Amino acid sequence: MESYIKITQLNDFIFCPASIYFHDLYGDADTRTIQTTDQTLGTASHSTIIDQSYSTRSDVLQGIYVYSSKYNLLGKIDLFHIKRGLLTERKRQIKQVFDGYVYQLYGQYYGLLERGYEINALRLYSQIDNKVYPVPLPQDDPEMFGKFENTIQDFESFDLSRFVQTNPDKCARCIYTNACDRSL
Ligand code: SF4
Repeated sequence: MESYIKITQLNDFIFCPASIYFHDLYGDADTRTIQTTDQTLGTASHSTIIDQSYSTRSDVLQGIYVYSSKYNLLGKIDLFHIKRGLLTERKRQIKQVFDGYVYQLYGQYYGLLERGYEINALRLYSQIDNKVYPVPLPQDDPEMFGKFENTIQDFESFDLSRFVQTNPDKCARCIYTNACDRSL
């Protein structure tokens, strides 16, 4: 595994820590589970009102890499409106705001901060139904921020050899279930 954490791996890690090894092995093309298909479809490009309104503006950053040395996180942002300090992560369809979505925004947020940008607001955007979900900044949501930091710590100290899966429902929805020796 890399010495850094990919921002997108946080979502996989929450679902099942073992799955990040298979995701690395089989690549991003895999849709890992039925449930997390919604999560991993991520930034699939669709023509939407938000996309069109941003596409011609020069004060928007799109798809650039950011790195947070504080959390050892590397990944790409989706859309950042520089003047408004507005960071947006587009998803194909959001049926529920999973913690992993918020962690993804946090990772991008801290990466942008280290590049010197001022970020005033975070939001998720569901493309199919054109819905916006504001996400509080980490400092304004101590509970979520605590969960984010705990997840990073758990990720850093994770030892696959000691991992025991206890939730058969996850394995039942996981496409790695035949390859995985932890599968229930
Ligand atoms: S089969 Fe189960 S233990 Fe293995 S990666 Fe999938 S969810 Fe995790």
